[in-house]
Amino acid sequence: QAWPSQKVRETFINFFRNRDHLFVPSSSVVPKKDEGTYFINAGMNQFKPVFLGTVDPHSDMASYRRVVNSQKCIRVGGKHNDLDDVGNDLYHHTFFEMLGNWSFGDYFKKEACAMAWDLLTNAYGLPERHLYVTYFGGNEKAGLKPDLECRDIWLEIGIPPERVLPFGMKDNFWEMGETGPCGPCSELHYDHSHSNDARGLVNADSPQVIELWNVVFMQYDRLGDMSLCPLPRHHVDTGMGLERVTAVLQGTTSNYNTDLFLPLFEHIHTTCGVPAYQGRVGIADKGGIDTAYRIIADHARMLTVAISDGLRPGRGGLDSKVRKIVHRCVKQARRVLKAPPGVISSLVPLVVESLGEAFPEIQRNSAETQSILEAEEERYMQTLVEGERALGKALNKFGSITCLTGEQIYELESGRFGVHVPAHILMDLAEDHGIGLNMKEYDEIIDGLKVVSSPDVVCDNLVLSQHDMAHLKDSGIACTQDDFKYHHMSDDG
Ligand code: ATP
Ligand code: MG
Ligand code: MG
Ligand code: MG
Repeated sequence: QAWPSQKVRETFINFFRNRDHLFVPSSSVVPKKDEGTYFINAGMNQFKPVFLGTVDPHSDMASYRRVVNSQKCIRVGGKHNDLDDVGNDLYHHTFFEMLGNWSFGDYFKKEACAMAWDLLTNAYGLPERHLYVTYFGGNEKAGLKPDLECRDIWLEIGIPPERVLPFGMKDNFWEMGETGPCGPCSELHYDHSHSNDARGLVNADSPQVIELWNVVFMQYDRLGDMSLCPLPRHHVDTGMGLERVTAVLQGTTSNYNTDLFLPLFEHIHTTCGVPAYQGRVGIADKGGIDTAYRIIADHARMLTVAISDGLRPGRGGLDSKVRKIVHRCVKQARRVLKAPPGVISSLVPLVVESLGEAFPEIQRNSAETQSILEAEEERYMQTLVEGERALGKALNKFGSITCLTGEQIYELESGRFGVHVPAHILMDLAEDHGIGLNMKEYDEIIDGLKVVSSPDVVCDNLVLSQHDMAHLKDSGIACTQDDFKYHHMSDDG
């Protein structure tokens, strides 16, 4: 293998180090104060104070001019939520590494574009004719002009005009979140199909032409009232997905056919005794086996990283996202691969082997990470087994039905058949029996049970079961109905 992922990462970092960039280690995926409430989703998050000019003048960060790093990113929840794509396509992950270089008030568009082009075509040796570049085409409504300066820079570098393309806000104006630093950007896309003209496929969500690298010209701060305020200094902020560029360099159209994922697939294959991974997507993936492979391997990486950074499967905030990811993983392992218990946590050592050198914190906590994951996996398996038993009993009583009524769901949820079976788990279990759930009817019943909210005590953002609610009410604590609803949404509550 000419381009193991380790070498791809190193080449990037060394390229910029040799051009006076300081290497700054990845920050944790857990946001610090003022970094928002979602996972870290881009390399620039930790540098937000520099962009905003709020950096503590005595900190190291205050002296940063040129920086390079590889940032651990997770895109589950928030503005850039990719969860629904993961497993279904070959280039979006929940966890990925973002290779990035920065200029803080130092170089700007010209140098940034020139270095990006130099790295891709010389250091990595990608053929120029397979690369497309884009620039911001302007937006009248927002009062933003096209970035012709950027277009001209690319033309000057020598890229033929038919491969220099303008796009709008969605693709060429990068924003970290609803508010915060933002600006026009220029992206480099790779044509896997090697066709003569792939213009129409750039930014078209096509697996043939993939966005590799986003070069952002940080010029504005998006304020709470949605207006754009110019930043005091101009900066460059770039991000390239390590998994995507590795796929290109390893000669494959799929991020999953690289050394970052194949060892995990091999392990799943031998542990579960299912057919080997074949890389099929969509309807071609009959039975969903390849999709399950991708989801499990992807989620195992995300979970290993998130837990090493201190998150725990749990009830509130990001911990609840971690729990949700474990459950999605278990669901695939159990239903599609008929996997033995513990298969997800048994992937941890392989993830550590793959990422541990680049991110020592993953190595340090690996045993603990594995046991935390194992416990949660087991716990959820247990919940499913018990839920299944309860549902079996219930179905015996209800007779042959095609859909559970609201009343029946409520009965199962409140523990009438031995254990409490939350509606979102019931949904999965019932699906296995080919039975639907009348959630509308069920919601009406729940609305009827509305707990009166007291003005001073409101539990915000908690995951509560019906049982918890009754208990809280007994203790004189009130909850809003929204909190309760939260519990019933299986996805992204
Ligand atoms: P896409 O349009 O493919 O969803 P994006 O425009 O949302 O990507 P950026 O926010 O510009 O991505 O992030 C910079 C780079 O990070 C992208 O060019 C891509 O290489 C990589 N990247 C973004 N999201 C993911 C993901 N979910 N999984 C893997 N790599 C990603
Ligand atoms: Mg995206
Ligand atoms: Mg994009
Ligand atoms: Mg982009």
